[in-house]
Amino acid sequence: MLHANGPLLTVDVGERTATETSIEDLLADTVGGRATATALAHERIPFDADPFGPENRAYLSTGPLQQSRMSFTGRMNMTGLSPLTDGLVSTNAGGYLSRNFVDTAISVLELTGKSDEPLAVHVTDSGVEFEPVPELAGATVPETSDYMDEHHGLGPEHCIAIGPAGENLVRFASVMTFDSRAFGRGGLGAVLGSKNVKCVTFEGDAKEAVEVDIPSSPTTDVHREAAQSDDLMRRQGTTGSTEFINDNFSLPTRYFEDYEFENAAHIGGDAVEAKKYKKGACSACAYACKLPTRDEDRGVETEGPEFETVYSFGSLQGVGDIVDVMQANDLCDTLGMDTISAGVTVAAYLASEDEFGNAALAREITERIAHREGVGDVLAEGVARCHDDLGVDDYTVKGMEFAAHDGRVLHGQGLSYAVANRGADHMYAGMLGLEYSGELDPEGTLGKAETLVTMENHNVFRDTGIICAFGSDYVTEDRLEALFDADYTTLLDIGARTVERERHFNNRRGLDRDDDRLPYEIPDFEDALTEYYDARGWNYDGTVADRAAIAVDSSVPSAD
Ligand code: SF4
Repeated sequence: MLHANGPLLTVDVGERTATETSIEDLLADTVGGRATATALAHERIPFDADPFGPENRAYLSTGPLQQSRMSFTGRMNMTGLSPLTDGLVSTNAGGYLSRNFVDTAISVLELTGKSDEPLAVHVTDSGVEFEPVPELAGATVPETSDYMDEHHGLGPEHCIAIGPAGENLVRFASVMTFDSRAFGRGGLGAVLGSKNVKCVTFEGDAKEAVEVDIPSSPTTDVHREAAQSDDLMRRQGTTGSTEFINDNFSLPTRYFEDYEFENAAHIGGDAVEAKKYKKGACSACAYACKLPTRDEDRGVETEGPEFETVYSFGSLQGVGDIVDVMQANDLCDTLGMDTISAGVTVAAYLASEDEFGNAALAREITERIAHREGVGDVLAEGVARCHDDLGVDDYTVKGMEFAAHDGRVLHGQGLSYAVANRGADHMYAGMLGLEYSGELDPEGTLGKAETLVTMENHNVFRDTGIICAFGSDYVTEDRLEALFDADYTTLLDIGARTVERERHFNNRRGLDRDDDRLPYEIPDFEDALTEYYDARGWNYDGTVADRAAIAVDSSVPSAD
């Protein structure tokens, strides 16, 4: 089976040491990306770790396809213990980092320990250097990457960086790359902040040392089809679906008071396309669905917003002006915050103040959150921890704020939000696509568990390979089999073991059925939960049945 090559590089930023460990057997078992990082995290982060403690570990990992020239492969995975959900999270970002990472000839970077001063870590193909950067304390993401460019000739495509939000331990701080691409969900930016790691750069010329043999046939076909596609998404990114989703009553509005937004057309795909001034892409991707936008009148320039930001800083806040949403998007990227969790948290604040539609106030609050100023200090904890103070309902699962795609209408998606180890994130299983298309009836939860399990397992493998979520029509099951030289069921098994490792880790931190909850009712929920656990072979209480089932393989090196 095709898999990534190269050692695990462990960087202890407290001790300022770098150690390489061979993980050849582990990569042969788990391929790379999310599956490999989750296996490492499960074994090497103590079950009782403090997310902000030096014992927490953050993993940045590649799959084998990051060495290909195929579209949809300009992606990287990050995994760690989340300060937002208190469980394991994996998150995925595009941009141009993946090829520079591969050039350093490692497969996984592991960051552990805690530096006593702001630090830049430089990973090269010939070693690791540590650079104290006290002058970057409080710097924004672009200021940090500009500094790296000026002092080291390494542009934002070589960097991961955090902004003030990460430094200030905002629980939904993101790790940014290429200034505008986010490892967004779950607050791993705050984990880097707790370690005093301001940025990590990657530079090298050693990819031959980790070369993999990728079959040319599906690669060429996928690339050609991506380049020739006339999908609306190539012009409007994910925002092209805004009005369709609104028409399906799945665009949460004014902090979940409503299901549709009267101004959806003003913030949807056509509005975004009108502001787009050039094509945008990730490395090697001919599909090029990204959205560099600008508004000259107000001097706003950003990349996006994507649909989820149109929801979180648009409909959910009652804001119907696309330039306001662009501005909020830029603010979150610059300060280093997940646009979904930040937007939902700001919407909760606007609800508490009866200020829906006040975009200027939303921007002010967003800044305050990143700097933990005034009420921003409370909001920086996220909705689950601050909703009582605000006097609003808690629209989260396991502490993570909801993506759009309303589970009150799409019941299979609602079930997916409830059981996802990562919390209320739409990318964990993606039942929404089946329910929007009518392939699955959106009404009801019973009988959907098997499909949900398959979707979760598939998405793990997608994040393991690593393939962009938007490439699923092109990188089909038979092409996955050809690319990885394995049956599709073998690939799904890697997904299943990974979901189980996440679940087992979370169980050991006290999460179980009582945490697989929604803040609203959907039909037959308790029976559907039981169906899901049965389909997974788990206990009635949502715990993993058999420790042996997740087999601490001898291939995972212990941290001791
Ligand atoms: S489809 Fe879009 S998001 Fe995915 S890799 Fe290509 S450009 Fe990046």
